[in-house]
Parts: sequence; structure tokens; C-alpha cells
Amino acid sequence: MKKTSWNEKEHTDTVGLNENIVRLREINRALFYNVVTCGECGEILIQNTSLENIECGFCGFESEPCDFPDLIH
Ligand SMILES: [Zn+2]
Repeated sequence: MKKTSWNEKEHTDTVGLNENIVRLREINRALFYNVVTCGECGEILIQNTSLENIECGFCGFESEPCDFPDLIH
């Protein structure tokens, strides 16, 4: 039987839009990665932000980052 306590919430990672944005910024700053979607096929890609162009490995579409919208915005 699952035991519940008054402070169970302290063990829960509550993740909403703000947390997603803040954490993605931290990942971007530390690793130069950003999570985007392919403007052609819609697949989710983890982009290296230090490079000028992105090529989607799923469909072959290649373009500038502006054609790959952020997954979280
Ligand atoms: Zn694609």
C-alpha cells in the first residue's frame, strides 16, 4: 500500500512552461544544445547552437535555424 505524507509534494518535480524554458536555457548555456522541431517533417531535433546550419537527419531538410522552430517557446 502506498504511504502518503503531508510533504509528499517536496519529492515531486513540478514542471510547467516556465520550468521548461528555464531548464532549456540552462542546457543551452552549458552544452550549446537547443531542442527544435524540423520545419519540414516536424521531428524533434537537439540542435548544436554553435553551428550555422541544421540538417534534419530524418528527412534531409537543411536550412538556417529560423526554419527550425524551438520546441519550447
Ligand atoms: Zn525533417
